[in-house]
Amino acid sequence: ISDRDGWFWLDGVWLAWRDARMHLLTHTLHYGMGCFEGVRAYEGPNGVHLFRADAHVRRLLDSAHALDIPLDFDAPALLDAQREALRRNALGDAYLKPTVFLGAEGMGLRAEGLSTHVMIPAWHLAHYISPSAAEQGLRVLTSSWSRHHVNISLCRAKTNGHYVNSMLALNTAIKAGFDETLMLDPEGYVAEGSAENVFLVRDGVLHTPEVTSCLQGITRDSVIALARERLGMTVRERRITRDELYTADEAFFTGTAAEILPIRELDGRRIGRTDQRPVTRELQALYRRLVRGDLASDLAAYGDWLQA
Ligand code: PMP
Repeated sequence: ISDRDGWFWLDGVWLAWRDARMHLLTHTLHYGMGCFEGVRAYEGPNGVHLFRADAHVRRLLDSAHALDIPLDFDAPALLDAQREALRRNALGDAYLKPTVFLGAEGMGLRAEGLSTHVMIPAWHLAHYISPSAAEQGLRVLTSSWSRHHVNISLCRAKTNGHYVNSMLALNTAIKAGFDETLMLDPEGYVAEGSAENVFLVRDGVLHTPEVTSCLQGITRDSVIALARERLGMTVRERRITRDELYTADEAFFTGTAAEILPIRELDGRRIGRTDQRPVTRELQALYRRLVRGDLASDLAAYGDWLQA
């Protein structure tokens, strides 16, 4: 991914993509103390726009604050830089990864006197996973690795170091022949996927874990709003056990990159009696249309989610 043309924003300066290098002693590389966002841009009938970029910037600033990393850039500056990253790189459907990291002035855990930096890479992304998987659903394995505990990490922060745990879980599932993993919290309740929140439908009601161990996902928030406002569904945020997923009518993952992905099977148990998945399908269709700003009626209701 580093070997291509393009532009890269670092601390307010535009670097040629191939020249975007950093020192090997960059603190965040050694200890994982940093935070980031995954943001999508979509091309639709009204041009290219970022989807819910203000919510992503807010979560990035919150993550940095929770980690006690001071930043030199505020929300408007970070939003402008993301817009400009799309323009300079001539991107339509794209993924942006604004990342906050600590510099190379020292190696100690006290992190004294370290500079703080923000970078914004952006690249073309159409699909996170094959369109057929999005249609047919994923085969998922519950992980033997627990998701984070609120007193071991900052579960609200999207911290680089958290993803060691995600990768252990995901790659164990992939090696065993599955598409994704489901992670439980340290008490054994359902938390989330490796990089997605999780939902289940049972008797027409939508359920998702409350935000303790899992990330407070922005797609999770969009889906909750769409289910309530467009499908008139009741949505419950609460503790969920894995057998509730086994016996759900439907289940799906949500995430900025993943969008909405049906779960076909969990631990060898097929989810739902049919492959119809009417709620998942309807939410996928609504979400796909909305992120591109396809309909004027959607724009009237959710236009502030799209930032040109
Ligand atoms: N959980 C984890 C662990 C994630 O990495 C992500 C992706 N950011 C999500 C959930 C979904 O969050 P969002 O919808 O904000 O992308």
